[in-house]
Amino acid sequence: MQAIVFRGAGQPLEVSEVGVEHPKAGEVRVRIAAAGVCHSDLHVLKGDWQLPTPLVMGHEGSGVVTAVGEGVSKVAVGDHVVLSWVPACGKCRNCVAGKPARCELVARVVAPNGVLYDGTTRFHAGGERIHHYLGVSSFAEEVVVPESGAIPIRKDAPLDVVSIVGCAVATGVGAVLRTAQVEAGSTVAVIGCGGVGLSVVQGARLANAERIIAIDVLASKLDVARRLGATDVVDASAVDPVEAVRELTEGGADYVFDAIGKVTTTEQSLSMLGIGGTSVIVGLPPAGAKAQFEPLALAEADQRILGSNYGSILPERDVPWLVDLYMEGRIQLEEMISGRRPLREAGAAFEDLAAGRALRTLLIPE
Ligand SMILES: [Zn+2]
Ligand SMILES: [Zn+2]
Repeated sequence: MQAIVFRGAGQPLEVSEVGVEHPKAGEVRVRIAAAGVCHSDLHVLKGDWQLPTPLVMGHEGSGVVTAVGEGVSKVAVGDHVVLSWVPACGKCRNCVAGKPARCELVARVVAPNGVLYDGTTRFHAGGERIHHYLGVSSFAEEVVVPESGAIPIRKDAPLDVVSIVGCAVATGVGAVLRTAQVEAGSTVAVIGCGGVGLSVVQGARLANAERIIAIDVLASKLDVARRLGATDVVDASAVDPVEAVRELTEGGADYVFDAIGKVTTTEQSLSMLGIGGTSVIVGLPPAGAKAQFEPLALAEADQRILGSNYGSILPERDVPWLVDLYMEGRIQLEEMISGRRPLREAGAAFEDLAAGRALRTLLIPE
């Protein structure tokens, strides 16, 4: 089958012929319907994070189950699934405590080593092992993932559109409703209006936030944010976003979501907070980046900084729920999808994303 293989920073993205093996016990094989191109994938391409290579890229996608391994009970052949990039083990301390987004096996083995639970991979090419990316690797025609990484969803949902629930929407809506648990009537600001930031806007709308301030440097993205529920928009290329938010909220916001994750935006998110405010780090910086804050000011104003991984969601519960919200018209997904390309055009999709020309591009296997 064809897959997009990453071999190292600065090397061109290859469309390669990759062998995919049968699922082992507890694993399922999925034929990919669509895969979303996420900003985190750009970090991979730039070499911002240390990952084992070669690997099949992609961590957002949807598809149809074509085979199941021994002992699989929650997913069956023919099921429509959204892929989860925290395919939780269900057995570690955090999984048992009901916090699968904090799965220790995923954090310590699956993600850093580019493997499945048993420490091996199901991809190969010409005798060479090819690694998984976050247990998903959706830039491929077919994948093998742990059972918990393939979440069954209703069959009347358009399978390509809901692929973005697997990363952008789960991360953004989850950050608002699960990580921060924003209360009705709160003032919310979000820095960055890509797929995750726009999902934060929609989560804040679901939470009945009183004020939803969207911040970006591109007018086109701010237009989309307005359509998705932002009450105010701030063009950070024209004005100081910190001053603008402090003015709009009369002193600072209750919640600020950094959906970009640069050192500057993280520091801005803290400067935008009012008394008792909470900054939520959702976007991801390169490994090793360090932001500064003044502990005295944080303590005196009773403020909090929260990290949000995968929106602190319970994938099994929240992914089907987010699909339901979309089917009921309570969240919009089509507005966030700026285009569709065949899988082999992954390189061009990344160029669009890096240049700010795209929100979410879907890659469709031919
Ligand atoms: Zn992502
Ligand atoms: Zn676990």
